[in-house]
Amino acid sequence: MTVRTRVAPSPTGDPHVGTAYVALMNYMFAKKHGGEFILRIEDTDRARSTSASETVIFESLKWLGLTWDEGPDIGGDCGPYRQSERSDIYAEHCDKLIKDGNAFRCFCTTERLDAMRAGQRAAGQITRYDGYCVHLTEEQIQQNLDDGLSYVVRMSVPDSGTCTITDMARGEIEFPWQSIDMQILMKSDGMPTYHMANVVDDHLMGITHIMRGEEWIPSAPKHQLLYKYFGWEMPQIFHLPLLRNPDKSKLSKRKNPTGVLFYQRMGFLPTALLNFLGLSATSTPDGDVLYDLEGLTEQFDISNIPLTGPVFDKVKLDWINGKYIRENMSSSQFAQSVQQWALNETYLKSVADLAQSRISKLSDLGGLTSFLFSGTLGLTEEQLLNGKLSQEQVIYALFLASAGLDELQDWSDSSIESALRQVAVVADVKLKDMLRHFFITISGSERSLPLFQSMDLLGRDICRERLREALTTLGGVTNKKRDQWTKDWQKAKSTG
Ligand code: GLU
Repeated sequence: MTVRTRVAPSPTGDPHVGTAYVALMNYMFAKKHGGEFILRIEDTDRARSTSASETVIFESLKWLGLTWDEGPDIGGDCGPYRQSERSDIYAEHCDKLIKDGNAFRCFCTTERLDAMRAGQRAAGQITRYDGYCVHLTEEQIQQNLDDGLSYVVRMSVPDSGTCTITDMARGEIEFPWQSIDMQILMKSDGMPTYHMANVVDDHLMGITHIMRGEEWIPSAPKHQLLYKYFGWEMPQIFHLPLLRNPDKSKLSKRKNPTGVLFYQRMGFLPTALLNFLGLSATSTPDGDVLYDLEGLTEQFDISNIPLTGPVFDKVKLDWINGKYIRENMSSSQFAQSVQQWALNETYLKSVADLAQSRISKLSDLGGLTSFLFSGTLGLTEEQLLNGKLSQEQVIYALFLASAGLDELQDWSDSSIESALRQVAVVADVKLKDMLRHFFITISGSERSLPLFQSMDLLGRDICRERLREALTTLGGVTNKKRDQWTKDWQKAKSTG
């Protein structure tokens, strides 16, 4: 048997370091066994999926060197590898489930479902579909279809007994069937849900081992049941622990930068990041010896993967990166990395476009543009408050800006400008006064290159981190204010 693993990201934002971690584990497991590693794009959520996000996923994985043997861009024998292109396959499989009595059409309205859930909550029960449409007769179903009623397809789930899942790391996990919902498999728009598409694809793509985040453990019983309904063998499954913040909470961008691109823009080297992410699964978890991806794969041992989530410790990452730069690179490799990082033609050209009209000799360039080649700026409270707004106003504006910029689908100077204009309105401050503080936060100086274009060039991740650093320096935001201010922002947006 050839081992086949996959990473199956949803293209709904910038790729997360957690995705890189999952990809790395799947990659190493496949390669260690002489197998194949597949990239599948799970874009069934049409409202949230974007092709820009898909492109960034490709770029991030390639930057890390986690190349795939089959995938949407290079094809393969089991394609297409983008779920939005596989609708017919899911429809066919869904029909079979209905025909075999393993799934049913559910015509329940949102009102009925809301009332049902409210009743279950009031009775202290688990909220779960109550099976109302399981018992519709053929005639009733036909009548509903003739009447053009909209419906979803749900899977049938046993009413009693227990389901036992075997996880490669955890052994057997039991779930009472009573706690498992009659999962929607097909939405009313005919698109499959994650569960349906994921199971069908893993089978048809010949996946032998699934390594995915532990947040999917509760889905495993549904998936196992679907495999049984189809008469297929279920791949072996390993639920990976989630990366955590140093305070042990789930890694979140509020507390730590989480985008792969952030680490790229900060000048971390792909191999250092891979070593950092892979450390917990190798036999030298202290990171004393650093490996390239091949060496890391040789060291990889699935039984070393800890069941408690590895802490995403930035201090350690810094240490590994520094060690890698100092000890594992020749000077020409180092020079080449710097060049690829930010002295490449594309980036330099964009910097030059911004700076040319503002300098009188070439040596002015360094001082004027150094913030475009830096990570965080380490500004003091005094520097951040050097302007007309009060501390409270600056904190409020920085907070709103973080929320507004995070939501932008498209990161461009014009979208950044309109978000910041809206921030000034909501914060009830003059745009000009507010932007002075933003100039300082982003560039470290009161007078600099055009703000919006500089932010565009720096990228969302670095800007977010500079805003976050400034907020922390100014004393941070209490949870109560965070909730209130998030509401302020949502309200302002909904009223336009
Ligand atoms: N699309 C899912 C995700 O992005 C994949 C989960 C899985 O690997 O089954 O997390």
